[in-house]
Amino acid sequence: MTSRRPVVAGNWKMNGHLELADQLVEKFATELNSDAVEVVLCPPAVFLSDLSKKLEQNRERLSAVELGIGGQNASALEKGAHTGEIAASMLKAAGCEYVILGHSERRAMYGDTPELVAEKFAQAKANGLTPILCTGESEDEREAGKTFEVIAQDLEKVIECNGKQAFDNAIIAYEPLWAIGTGKSATPEQAQEVHAFIRGHLAKIGDVDADTVRILYGGSVTPDNADELFAQADVDGGLIGGASLVADKFIKLCQLA
Ligand code: PGA
Repeated sequence: MTSRRPVVAGNWKMNGHLELADQLVEKFATELNSDAVEVVLCPPAVFLSDLSKKLEQNRERLSAVELGIGGQNASALEKGAHTGEIAASMLKAAGCEYVILGHSERRAMYGDTPELVAEKFAQAKANGLTPILCTGESEDEREAGKTFEVIAQDLEKVIECNGKQAFDNAIIAYEPLWAIGTGKSATPEQAQEVHAFIRGHLAKIGDVDADTVRILYGGSVTPDNADELFAQADVDGGLIGGASLVADKFIKLCQLA
């Protein structure tokens, strides 16, 4: 079996502040002496450059930790008259290596269709960022037995727009909508079932070694439920919302992965 290094990514959403970054850096330096997990911090875009500098200043102390930063969204366009948008090249210039794309909050509230997300994915890749592509079903879709169909559509759009090798150097996050911010996580069995489907589908439609693609679970992950979720064969870490805002909890999740 291929060994995949787990990833724990913190999606701060429109929360957090630079003091949280200080707390996290301190914790990483003193409590996470391991590069067995890849940690990604995704604060609001205005904090990225400061965070990047902070990591650079603490490079020695953090040398044992595999730590990167990521944006929470990027434009599908290169540049131009698009007030409020941020280009993938700008995230890169601010020190990002990753970008979250297609989060369900953006799909639901900001018009991120599967097509648009696939175009954003292309821009991210073209600018050397590793996309963290979010996908997942609503409660209604799950009840109607459409979970796999919804996820397959998201993956297929990305491949249509980016070619069969799209998921080479990309991360996928399975985030069931009903589990995000609700305190009701998917069960380890539910997560494993969908993650196995994603890996199998990637092997079918893509031209990548699907065994090497990291698939994260997201949706109400806490230090109390992470152990079992992360222990599933096809779960390679987590995309963490609420618990990424509490330094103690986030560091614990990194230790558990
Ligand atoms: P949550 O959010 O951990 O607060 O459920 C996860 C996410 O939306 O990425």
